[in-house]
Amino acid sequence: MPSLPYARNGFRYNHYKFYLDNMFHTRVQRLSVETGFTCPNRDGTKGWGGCIYCNNNSFMPPYTVRVDLRNQIRAGKQYLKERFNAEKFIVYFQSYTNTYGPVSVLKDKIRVVLEDKDVVGISVSTRPDCLQRNVLDFLQDISRDTYVNLEIGVESVYDKTLLWMNRCHTVADTVHALSVLEEYAFDVTAHVILGSPTETREEMLAMTREINRWNIRFLKLHHLQIIRGARLEKEYIKHPFHLFEYREYLELVTEFISRINTKIIFQRLFAESPGSFLLAPVWEKRTTEIIMDIQKTMRDMDLWQGGKL
Ligand code: SF4
Repeated sequence: MPSLPYARNGFRYNHYKFYLDNMFHTRVQRLSVETGFTCPNRDGTKGWGGCIYCNNNSFMPPYTVRVDLRNQIRAGKQYLKERFNAEKFIVYFQSYTNTYGPVSVLKDKIRVVLEDKDVVGISVSTRPDCLQRNVLDFLQDISRDTYVNLEIGVESVYDKTLLWMNRCHTVADTVHALSVLEEYAFDVTAHVILGSPTETREEMLAMTREINRWNIRFLKLHHLQIIRGARLEKEYIKHPFHLFEYREYLELVTEFISRINTKIIFQRLFAESPGSFLLAPVWEKRTTEIIMDIQKTMRDMDLWQGGKL
């Protein structure tokens, strides 16, 4: 069995929860907020209409309807305390492209967030082609006093898939962004989507070779879902294509994990969209059930993160 510093309680892969436990010694939850940024793939700078799978409303918690950031944080804390006994929070700038716009706007928002004594860090989500130096330098500055995580939407290592997704950036943009980020000390997440009809199973698994070369702390995996209100909804209804069956995904994702370097920590292994937004695939499984089934599959197949490297 490979040495996995953040795998405990029978987990066979590094899990983000144990990383946070190790760092903060208390229950820390990510608290998503709506920051009011837009996205260059929606306003015409890069493209119109956004990535085909994207509907930001599908993952924003109900408390983000409060427009004011302080109110969102207040309501989010209450929700996460009641639901998960959370004590401290990493505020997650999740929807849209949070480094798109003047750096002064981002600075003001982060200053507001860090006023709250229960906020121990921030996580900022963005695209690989929206990483201006002044933003990165600012994040580096604040990372001396607070925890900082930058999340990059990589999605795929194949240009044919990025084209199909209408990402309006290339794999070369991703590689360039990741090389620039090597100069910075904060934690970087790569977000990847598995299951595009442009990729074979072998191509999906082959992504691990690229990912293992990157200097990232975290990996976030999502299986492709058809979300109501996203552009893909109409295309899928007109021309349906294969999406993962539940068991099929368990087999793929566990194989994927076994090919990932042991220094990487998994922040997420599958997508979770509310039933009201999810058109397909509908698995009717709870989050804990999926995590337990991943564990069981890894045990049954005798798989470990990094075990097949
Ligand atoms: S996924 Fe991100 S980059 Fe794509 S349209 Fe949505 S907000 Fe914009």
